[in-house]
Amino acid sequence: MRILLVSSEALPFAKTGGLADVATGLSKALSNAGHEVVLALPCYRRHIDELARGERIGQVEVAMKSRRVKADILETTLDESPLRVWLIDQPNYFDRGSLYVEGGLDYADNSERFLFFSRAVLEAARNQYLLPDVIHANDWQTGVIPAIVSQQLRHTADFANVGTAFTIHNMAFHGAFPAHDMALTGLPQKFFNWRQMEFYGQLNLLKTGIAFADMVTTVSPTYAREICTSQYGCGLDPVLSDCGDRLVGILNGVDPEEWNPEIDPLIPENYTLESVDVGKAACKSALQQQLGLAENPKALLFGMVSRLTDQKGFDLIAEKADAILQADVQFVFLGTGEERYENLLRDLQERYPGKVSANIGYNEQLAHQIEAAADAYLMPSRFEPCGLNQQYSHVYGTPPIVHATGGLADSVIDATDENLEERLANGFVFNKYQSDDFLEAVWRAVGMFQHHPEDWKRLQQAGMSRDWSWDQSADKYVKVYEQAISRTRSE
Ligand code: ADP
Repeated sequence: MRILLVSSEALPFAKTGGLADVATGLSKALSNAGHEVVLALPCYRRHIDELARGERIGQVEVAMKSRRVKADILETTLDESPLRVWLIDQPNYFDRGSLYVEGGLDYADNSERFLFFSRAVLEAARNQYLLPDVIHANDWQTGVIPAIVSQQLRHTADFANVGTAFTIHNMAFHGAFPAHDMALTGLPQKFFNWRQMEFYGQLNLLKTGIAFADMVTTVSPTYAREICTSQYGCGLDPVLSDCGDRLVGILNGVDPEEWNPEIDPLIPENYTLESVDVGKAACKSALQQQLGLAENPKALLFGMVSRLTDQKGFDLIAEKADAILQADVQFVFLGTGEERYENLLRDLQERYPGKVSANIGYNEQLAHQIEAAADAYLMPSRFEPCGLNQQYSHVYGTPPIVHATGGLADSVIDATDENLEERLANGFVFNKYQSDDFLEAVWRAVGMFQHHPEDWKRLQQAGMSRDWSWDQSADKYVKVYEQAISRTRSE
């Protein structure tokens, strides 16, 4: 199958969150399975140095209202993977300090930037640099793609049976813009209606992707059900409920070349399931030393790497951190985001020297070191479409403590007696998003870590021995692509 996967970020070129891991992990797995895959993203010049940008294979032009805007199409590869990567090079839009925001505010022309990107990718495909069987768009930044394919390109012979898949990575980001931005889509005004592209008077690019894609996916089966409810649907639940079997949940995988304690070059000691005790102890003591934590092997070290937002459960941590810190435990946090949570973490570090390490910033290496060094991982998210860090934690033998929502519910099995007995348990789960329920799960973890090391070992074994790689999920995406293509034939 020829697959064009379009994403606003992808590792190792540019990343702000899980989407970057997913775009690359999935593209690589599809490509390794023998499909012809092109991954397309903007050429963020300040993040992708010149040597990594590959070769110019052509140029496209897109009419943005009355202006004609050009972009070079650069093509590069990833080490040892047959995957092709296109970088859409348009410096006015993408030669900026960050991907989406500056000084806490979205760039004022984000709709124009990403509508241009989406349309330029389709122009490149039309120019025959790749004639795909399926185009897979991701999140609002590429939400216009299914609309253009189904309403314009499919009228041409080459695209008559090109299927579209659209993946929602987080319902909270709608890509909502003033109505007059409709003119930047190149689509007729008639689509600006409440069933298709309009939402409360604005152009809504997430809704657009959902409305026009042949198949809609999201990143876990539980989240696929949740987003059809008013609690999680962020207002678009009626549109999603209408999808019926056009909506599918597929759990993200883990890229074993990036996240694998056996070969990870970013951690001080590599280890496997057999050597996890020794390896983790070495990584823990190195991190304690590096971050100024007390070098206490017995203290349960909780790790957390996260955007510092409401979504991720920091209100629960704020309420219960003092209680938890009375026990023989330590915290290591890494993240950036809302100022109130940055202050919360700094305050904890100040009040509990040697027990709390607050690292405000974005640091790939430290993220790996924390997964390897921590004994347990905290992920009490209010909602979580899939979540990657709980899966990385499994791979690194670091049982996660999670709220039963979205992908967390699909990947963490609670340490009940029965689940332990059956060797299924791989972490700690609390069902209600309430601080007392969170605290109860934390105490169960502390109790087991201190008094039942054999049960703890079972959790690590269950997490580390399961295959979390992309291969199975990639198979499921291929089925979705086949369904998308067959829908174009039955139209
Ligand atoms: P989300 O996409 O909602 O932010 P995910 O768990 O799906 O959450 O993915 C987050 C990804 O970003 C993970 O790979 C995580 O390790 C990484 N990450 C988040 N914050 C940081 C940070 N401050 N430093 C390094 N990596 C981070």
